[in-house]
Amino acid sequence: MSGVGKGITASSIGKILQFTGYRVSAVKIDPYVNVDAGTMNPTEHGETFVLEDGYETDQDMGNYERFLNTSLTRTSYMTTGSIYQRVINQERSLGYKGKTVSVVPHVPLAVIEQIKQAAKKEDADITIIEIGGTVGEYESILFLEAARMMKRQHPQDVAFVLVSYLPIPNTLGEMKTKPTQHAVRTLQESGIFPDIIIGRSPESMDQRRKEKIATSSMLHHSDIISAPNLESIYDLPDHFLKEKLDVKLLHKLRLTSRSNRTSQQNRKSWIRFVRKTKNQKYDITIAIVGKYFGTGEFVLSDAYVSVIEALKFSGAYANIRVHIDWLQAQDFEGKDANNNLQRLKKYAGVIVPGGFGTSGIEGKINVIEYVRKNKIPFLGLCLGMQLACVEFARNVLGLKDAHSTEMCEDAEHPIIDILPEQKEKLRKGDYGGSMRLGSYPTVLKKGSLVRKVYSTETISERHRHRYELNTIGNEYRELFEKKGLYISGTSPDGLLPEIIELDQKLHPFFVGVQFHPELQARPLDPHPLFTAFVEASSNI
Ligand code: GLN
Repeated sequence: MSGVGKGITASSIGKILQFTGYRVSAVKIDPYVNVDAGTMNPTEHGETFVLEDGYETDQDMGNYERFLNTSLTRTSYMTTGSIYQRVINQERSLGYKGKTVSVVPHVPLAVIEQIKQAAKKEDADITIIEIGGTVGEYESILFLEAARMMKRQHPQDVAFVLVSYLPIPNTLGEMKTKPTQHAVRTLQESGIFPDIIIGRSPESMDQRRKEKIATSSMLHHSDIISAPNLESIYDLPDHFLKEKLDVKLLHKLRLTSRSNRTSQQNRKSWIRFVRKTKNQKYDITIAIVGKYFGTGEFVLSDAYVSVIEALKFSGAYANIRVHIDWLQAQDFEGKDANNNLQRLKKYAGVIVPGGFGTSGIEGKINVIEYVRKNKIPFLGLCLGMQLACVEFARNVLGLKDAHSTEMCEDAEHPIIDILPEQKEKLRKGDYGGSMRLGSYPTVLKKGSLVRKVYSTETISERHRHRYELNTIGNEYRELFEKKGLYISGTSPDGLLPEIIELDQKLHPFFVGVQFHPELQARPLDPHPLFTAFVEASSNI
């Protein structure tokens, strides 16, 4: 079922196979009909993870990129919607040469074709394919059929891993294997016989339960792997190594280890990273001011998972444990706003992350005003950067009616305005995959803070936006710079502002970026901007 940790499990399997010296890649299959994850509300589905090539995907793709230390392409992601689109496009271009196109086998064959293309593109020896959803549900039937057909095509080269949940009902206090036994049975009905079963549960599975599951599945009990909750998700590869899952999987795939100096080195660096995330010298608390947190009684931080991880990596690197407090933007509006703003004093730094729509906007602007005036380190990501510009225009330049045209179409001072090419798209109702998406270069200004932080002149970062700081044909840029808010990064032609920063004489760390640096942060390669922010926040 969703949320059980399939993505982290699959990523960790990828990681331990990397340690055996093989080139490993990943493919994620999401059974929903949406063609990509771009049109979904983050409260429904968590973060939209944008790939270098601009494809808007599920947050699990972020796990793969982070665990495997790689950048994937759109070929490595598919949904029911995208696979049907592929089949239909092929049919429209006479790709089926006049034949009747059927759901089976043509849809599963298209799935297999794309998996093979992805493996080729990534030059992978082993590809981990994660089929999302729950065994037995209607939605994933075609993908399971593709898996079955693939095993038939390549019996030696395909191994199946079932990730299942083992509940411990409060009333019993005992771990139950029945749901897993049923899942195995259901999977077998689809013609798929798992080679390994991974039991996710709050605690470790004992031998008796492993044997129960083994009996119902035709496996040896040593093929039933316990995956209890661990202190950190990055502990899972090590846990799997202790369970010898790497050896077992290679054996199932009839491969022998290719472990060499580089792969051993990678393993050591990984273990060092995990250790570093746990033993830090300093502690700081960062506030993230957003609006996607409430789903009923729960706080859902999934919408910002890459930001959380980016902070973790930079913290591990800089020897700082970063705690995060989630603050609701709306709490900084209305009658309690002032009281709540005062509470920001205790934070080492504040992040205003990306977002869409009108709610919570004034609260975020109030927060930015407070941190600017009180010199609290600030990092604005995408929408956060845009609102920093609006705040500055209103409160420093005195342009009281400054706003973004996303929230106020006829703003007197449209400090943030829609990108010209986006206007036409919105008019036509073209919302799918149509933002300014993916990697673009940014040139950093000499002498700027960000130039020092990145220690290079040109960078490449991933984007996802329709609006932009409006500097063409107006005097805003000049007004901003006169008062100390510099545009310190632009597109190579100098036209699109990509980064703003306050003069360091005015503020120790106040940076806003139009892109999403969090998407490129990696455990062993922390993002320089997050590292600089964390260091500025900790005052070391
Ligand atoms: N809503 C803003 C835009 O479209 C910001 C997007 C974001 O934060 N990802 O430009």
